[in-house]
Amino acid sequence: MKALRRFSVRAQLPAALAPLQELAMNLRWTWHGPTQDLFAGVDEAAWRAAGGDPVRLLGEVRPQRLAELAEDADFVGRVQERAEDLRTYLREPRWYQGQARRSSDTDQGLPTAIGYFSMEFGVSEVLPNYSGGLGILAGDHLKAASDLGVPLIAVGLLYRSGYFRQSLSLDGWQQEHYPALDPQGLPLHLLADAAGTPVLVGVAMPGGRTLRARVWQASVGRVPLLLLDADIEENDPDLRQVTDRLYGGDAEHRIRQEILIGIGGVRAVRAFCDLTGHPAPEVFHTNEGHAGFLGLERIRELVAGGSGATGGGDAGLDFDQALATVRAGTVFTTHTPVPAGIDRFPVGLVEHYFTADMLPGIEPARVLSLGREPSGDMFNMAHMGLRLAQRSNGVSQLHGEVSRGMFQQLWGGFDAPEVPIGSVTNGVHGPTWTAREIAGLTAGAEAAGSPELFGVSDALLWEMRGTLRRRLVEEVRRRVKASWLQRGASEPELAWTERVFDPDVLTIGFARRVPTYKRLTLMLRDQERLRSLLLDPERPVQLVIAGKSHPADEAGKRLIQQMVRFADDHGVRHRIAFLPDYDMSMARYLYWGCDVWLNNPLRPLEACGTSGMKSALNGGLNLSVRDGWWDELYDGRNGWAIPTADGVDDPERRDDIEANALYELLGSQVAPLFYDRGADGVPDRWTSLVRHTLATLSPKVQATRMVTDYVEQWYAPAARSAARVVADGFAGAKELATYRARLDAAWSSVAVAEVDASGGADTPVLGAPMTVRAEVALGGLSPDEVLVQAVVGRADDADELSESTVQPMEPIGAGHDGSHRFEAVVALPHAGVLGYTVRVLPRHDLLAAPAELGRVVLPA
Ligand SMILES: *Cc1c(COP(=O)(O)O)cnc(C)c1O
Repeated sequence: MKALRRFSVRAQLPAALAPLQELAMNLRWTWHGPTQDLFAGVDEAAWRAAGGDPVRLLGEVRPQRLAELAEDADFVGRVQERAEDLRTYLREPRWYQGQARRSSDTDQGLPTAIGYFSMEFGVSEVLPNYSGGLGILAGDHLKAASDLGVPLIAVGLLYRSGYFRQSLSLDGWQQEHYPALDPQGLPLHLLADAAGTPVLVGVAMPGGRTLRARVWQASVGRVPLLLLDADIEENDPDLRQVTDRLYGGDAEHRIRQEILIGIGGVRAVRAFCDLTGHPAPEVFHTNEGHAGFLGLERIRELVAGGSGATGGGDAGLDFDQALATVRAGTVFTTHTPVPAGIDRFPVGLVEHYFTADMLPGIEPARVLSLGREPSGDMFNMAHMGLRLAQRSNGVSQLHGEVSRGMFQQLWGGFDAPEVPIGSVTNGVHGPTWTAREIAGLTAGAEAAGSPELFGVSDALLWEMRGTLRRRLVEEVRRRVKASWLQRGASEPELAWTERVFDPDVLTIGFARRVPTYKRLTLMLRDQERLRSLLLDPERPVQLVIAGKSHPADEAGKRLIQQMVRFADDHGVRHRIAFLPDYDMSMARYLYWGCDVWLNNPLRPLEACGTSGMKSALNGGLNLSVRDGWWDELYDGRNGWAIPTADGVDDPERRDDIEANALYELLGSQVAPLFYDRGADGVPDRWTSLVRHTLATLSPKVQATRMVTDYVEQWYAPAARSAARVVADGFAGAKELATYRARLDAAWSSVAVAEVDASGGADTPVLGAPMTVRAEVALGGLSPDEVLVQAVVGRADDADELSESTVQPMEPIGAGHDGSHRFEAVVALPHAGVLGYTVRVLPRHDLLAAPAELGRVVLPA
């Protein structure tokens, strides 16, 4: 009989084992091997049956076994030891506390807390609240923050079904399933007040209704993760569905989710801080546009004179002052250079929801102006994100550059390099993604002060790689068989699945979501060529492939089907497999076991990509188009760069060229290197690349490096800016708002006239001084309210300047008709044909970048 509804019952643990519950409920066990060993020791078989989920394990293990363990002094001792270790981890000062102490000496205060908002969090497969890279990145961000002691409060939604589970039909078509999760069976507890009454946050909906949510809390080491859940009796039936699925549904469903995470999310943070005494965030980090409405709720708080949110007590600011305050303490990260990946809503839908009920004191027109696209019909969440944050970034150096071009229109008049969007290259959480065997090796070598792992012999390194490859092969066999059983084959037909893959064959992985730009099927461009690589008698390769297509993406599903049909062929099925239901529990085996990690996106559409980083942590070599992170970290010895046909416009031809390059590299470089063995059977040249990868790439791709970058370059400056605008009754915010209003009034009268320059000689030479002068009308602004700059660079035929030197000009007195004269001496920066111009920008201490306000005046 099928269960009508599933629910979970938690075990009653004997008192001596009670700390097991504490260990199961904090997700730190997911990256702590010794705690996993402890759970496995409760009951090996039950641990496996529970899929490595301690909450399930404790619910399912026989009471008799628990009674036995409670009598086992040795086991009880280990339980206590682990629990004590966890408590120490949660309490002791870590990196951030050291920084905070140092910075308080120099008055460079780090934020007391940071609110980190993300639509998805992939912390562990036991909390399947993610769809792919974005969520797993967010999960890794929390874990690294915890390890570093960074005081994050994370906010997201709890989905009844998370993302879908994938299986295949007999003819290779993706099937989607949405198993419902029971929060009671997850490592969560309800946020409740002292009397035990669950906290409910509410957001007004149109028509006098209220969307309510309870708040589940997960503990990711030291970091609380608050997950809003609308599936409660207090909600109307349609509102209960707001948190049913991740990335399902239409625009209406989506905007309700985003309203809940943004506006409800800030309210949940306030409730959490009130109840726990946790300090309020001074900085808010919007991880991708979805959660951007959080800025509007914070503006509302300040306009309402409310809640002391930013330490200001009764603020009572106007919209512009509140906006200045909120921007100062907000960091926005954009994650996609694919225009279709940007979240947009019809303007009418935003108008429908953003009523005076939802955000009292906020004029809907002001909301719309933050995100309305110039064409007028669509509201763009990335535009709003950029406007609500004083600091924003992309997720690799290349993506930063691409983003500056992509959003250049928001900073009209500026060249792309000046657009104030920086970058922080993503990282991955080492303890989560590194196989324990490898972690042991590298930690040992690091401790011995040998960055290139010289203490580790080639033979040992190679043996480890073999162990991990063998483990992957077993997992592939298990999953291929399970998939065929699911597709309708019967057990006796499947003996062949016991022999698919070979633990000694060069193993290549390709696993990721299946949007078109990632080109899942590039390797199928020339099927005969792929077959001959797979079946090469001397140097075969084997390919393991996985990935989910968005349920609404038919084109993506067709790609999966092509791949599955190719892999189903009896002639190659022992060398290539598509494994359905890519998730963290599968991914781990791939990152551990693959010798080569393949990535062939359409450059530059991969913002960063992180799977190749996880492979590298385990000594996998990347074979990738130079896109995302690989563009900056490929060094010629840590893998291979697939040459791209960047300039070729015909996509078919481009795919042909790049596929050809891929086959060529595989056949003539990758496979020969792998199979070139010494007398001892070890491929020395290959292991030297593995060694180099582990020694030099691993440190750079760590999430702790990423979080450290965020703290030092984004959170700390944002906290300082926030402190400055809030101080003295929001004096800074008021001043900045007044200044912006003055700019609004004066800017159309600002003009540059009478530009001239004089050099020392008739034929100037490189480095010679040139004096640039201009008269500038300031429309009532004073000379110290603007930045006047001389720009000197190479001039092309179209009079465009490049490689420019920018130098501030000093006011030197009054000009004609109330204008001001400015002057600078510039050393000529290049030989050849140069040009120069003069421009005027806003200048204010509280701006983070001169281009920030998107205002610039050039000579008419
Ligand atoms: C790392 C990871 C991703 C993201 O990989 P990309 O290279 O960024 O596409 C997606 N899914 C899972 C399960 C992962 O572990």
